[in-house]
This record gives sequence, structure tokens and C-alpha cells, in this order.
Amino acid sequence: MPDPFDLVVVGAGPGGYIAAIRGAQLGLRVACVEKNKALGGACLNVGCIPSKALLDSSEWYHLAKQRFERHGIGCGDLRLDLARMLARKNQIVKGLTDGVAFLFRKNKVAAYHGAAQLVGKNRVMVAGEQVVELEAKAILLATGSEPAPLPFLAFDGVGVVSSTEALMFEQVPQHLIVIGAGYIGLELGSVWSRLGAKVTVLEFLPKLLPANDGELAGLLHKALSKQGLEIHLGAKVTGAKKKGKQVTVQAEHGDDMLEFTGDKVLVAVGRRPVTDGLGLEETGVRLDDKTGKVLVDDKYQTSVPHLFAIGDLVAGPMLAHKASEEGIAVAENLAGKPGHVNYSAIPSVIYTTPELAAVGLTEEQAKENGKPYKVGKFHFQANARAKCLDETEGLVKVITDAKTDRVLGLHILGPRASDLIGEGVLALEFGATAEDIARTCHGHPTLSEAVGEAARAAWDKALQA
Ligand code: NAD
Repeated sequence: MPDPFDLVVVGAGPGGYIAAIRGAQLGLRVACVEKNKALGGACLNVGCIPSKALLDSSEWYHLAKQRFERHGIGCGDLRLDLARMLARKNQIVKGLTDGVAFLFRKNKVAAYHGAAQLVGKNRVMVAGEQVVELEAKAILLATGSEPAPLPFLAFDGVGVVSSTEALMFEQVPQHLIVIGAGYIGLELGSVWSRLGAKVTVLEFLPKLLPANDGELAGLLHKALSKQGLEIHLGAKVTGAKKKGKQVTVQAEHGDDMLEFTGDKVLVAVGRRPVTDGLGLEETGVRLDDKTGKVLVDDKYQTSVPHLFAIGDLVAGPMLAHKASEEGIAVAENLAGKPGHVNYSAIPSVIYTTPELAAVGLTEEQAKENGKPYKVGKFHFQANARAKCLDETEGLVKVITDAKTDRVLGLHILGPRASDLIGEGVLALEFGATAEDIARTCHGHPTLSEAVGEAARAAWDKALQA
């Protein structure tokens, strides 16, 4: 058995690998156990990164097909080389997962490959090429989540797939039926629609993305429909039949029953925590009866002392950056520093076109709070950079406290909303007012001016609207 560690992290996703590196930087002796060959977890291998690579590639293809002519660019015979597009995506994934291995070496994090199982509260057994037992003062569980199946429609990896297989179709599906209009359904639905598939999205809820600002989610719905995605809201998928290479999906839609037949069905109805095989029951770790998530206190400690859990395993949004923040907090707490996560300043991004990014309160939540609030908006239609880019769809919306001018929320539907939202996150972290943002000099011509102008509209009056 190797010498005892200060911290053994189980899982090398964006929660686990960040916790391991931060712990090592703070002087802890750290090991990280990962059952997959490549480090990086779902995010790097089968989630955020490959999906963004395909979203970017498919967007170029779509632009070349539909919009280049407006720029005076003729493409002649445009051709899709899907194999090359997938190879490029795989190359990006490899570069980044290798990068995690490099960071482990650089920071002296000991990497162990194999399935981890808790054996007592201070020991982890790793079943890899050899069986190794690790001893640690603290163990951090960061095993993440996996796609949740529908009870009546098991994944078969070919016709009925999860996001993992939908990132590697070797041919563009003829008709892709997407169950669930959440992050995955809309992002991967967009990818295959842009590449030429007919895409039908079935969503149980009566509104698209109800956790987002309703006005912006409604505009995104319109934009996606215009792009060709056929979205059915209030459609609860209740059954499916497979016949040969086709799958027929039935959905309750009010008093009607909808039926769609396609060659691929992507089930994107959420993810569930990965806890199987970890030996949690034997160790006495308490789980939430409803969600199966690990119960932790405000320091991420489970019901068992010295055993911690973060990321998709615990409550809160299943987002890579939220897991990373929690990983940093655990490492800092263990190193005697005051680690902490500000959950009111966690951004969310949906990488559709236009992108939808948000942080803080939506207008609906501000209304519910019952306190006077103000709204400032600025449309990309009036932003010079957006016009040059030919990306004028969408707007920026700032929600402020009417009395104090403090920013309560920022919502962006538009080009590079994913990058622009950073200003709103910083505003919430620093307790900034709309005036603070408005008086901050934004470069010209940039998309960020739209954020400045929306803040100006909330505080006083936009200059360019
Ligand atoms: P999700 O929770 O975002 O959306 C699932 C949707 O499926 C919901 O709208 C739900 O109402 C619907 N649904 C459930 N059962 C249904 C049924 N029987 N018929 C029709 N609709 C049904 O889940 P997801 O899209 O699978 O994503 C999983 C997680 O991964 C999310 O929590 C998200 O945070 C994360 N993720 C994030 C990003 C990003 O940050 N850009 C991208 C992908 C995934």
C-alpha cells in the first residue's frame, strides 16, 4: 500500500480533477482514481467538450450553406465530410484529456486507473490492472452522473441512444426524434438539424426551458423553429416500439396521442448520479430517497466523517463549472482555508444559435419576490459588432433592484452569450449596480456594449436605442 494520502479523489471529471489539482497546489498529498482510461470525466469525453466541438463545426456548415452568400462568399459545391468532423472533435477531446494528465504530473497528483470502492471510511480499493488499496485522511467522491433512461425505452446504443452515442453517429440521421427539450436535446438536436437531419423534439412541459427567463426562452423557441426544429411542447412520451431500424415514439399531447417514427431516438430526459459499485451502502453514506443524490452539509461532508461529495452527485444544477467550484471549496477547506461557493452567481449556458446564457434572478423570480425591480434591455439588432457579424438575433436583459440599482440577474440571448455572461457573474459576485456596469468602458465595436447598454437602460437610459 502506498503511503497514506491527505486526499483521495474518486472521479477525474471537472469536479474531481480540479479538486485534486487545487489540493496539491495547497500542499496536500493527493491521489485521484478514475475508472476510464482517459481523464476528464463526462464533460471532456462525452459531454460539454465534444458537443461544443460539433456545435461549432455544424454551425460553420450551416453558415456556409445559408449565410455565406450574404457576405459575398460563394462556396460552390458544399460537401459534408462527417468522418473528418468527428475526427476533429475526437482530437480536441484527446488534447484536453491529455492536458489533465499533464496537469496531474505537473502538480504531483498520483493518478490511479481502475474502479474505486470504499472499504471503511478511510480506505479506497482500486480495481485496475492490479488491485491497490489507498488510505486517506479525506476521501472526495466526484463520480458525476450518467444519462437517465426512460423506464419503457432502454438505450440500445443504436436506434435508441443517449447523448454519448449522439456525439458519434457515423451518418446524419434521416429523422432524429429527441425526447426532452433541455440542454442536451436542444444542443444535439441543433447539431444534427444543421447537418441535414429532420429533427422532432418532444417536451413534456408546456414551456421551453422554464427555469430561464420566459421572454428569452420564448424567443429561442421561435429561433429554433425557424431553423427547422419541430418542437412539440406539452408532449409526454409514454411509449415506443421498435421495428427493424425504425423506432416509433408515442406521446400524450392534451387529449391527443402523437406518434412519430424515426431512425434515431435521442433520450435526453436528464441525468442520474453515478453511485453504483462505490460501496456507499456498506459505508453508511446517506442518499436522498427521491433523487439518489448524496446528502452533504455546507462543507460537502457526507453523513460519514472525512467522506465528501461534490458535483452531479450532490444537490444543485448538474453543471461542470458548479462541480469545479465545489471541488475547489473542498480542497481549500481541507487545507485550512475558507472554501465556499456562491450559488447565486452560477451561470448557465445553452449553446444553441443564438446562445442563451443566464445568471441570477429571472424576471419571473424577481416578480415573485414581491420587491420593486427594474428591467433594462438592449437588442443586438442595434449593436454595431452584431451587425458586422450578421448575428443580430436576441437581446440582453438586466434585472435590478429598483431601490438600490443592484444587479439581480443578467440574461443574454445572442451571439457569444456564453462569453458575455461573465460580466454578469462578476457583477453579482461584486454586488455591482447597473450604474457600475453602465459606467464601465466597453470596447467599441464589441458585443459587450450590448451588456453596457442594457445596464444603462436599467439604471437610466440606453444611449443607442
Ligand atoms: P434537462 O433536465 O436539461 O432536460 C430534460 C427535459 O426532458 C426536461 O425539460 C423534461 O421536462 C423533459 N422530459 C422528461 N421526461 C420526458 C418525457 N417522458 N417526455 C418528454 N419530455 C420529457 O436534461 P438533459 O438535457 O438530459 O441534460 C442533463 C444535464 O446535463 C442537465 O442537468 C444539464 O445541466 C447538463 N448539461 C448542461 C449543458 C450545458 O451546460 N450547456 C449541456 C448539456 C447537458
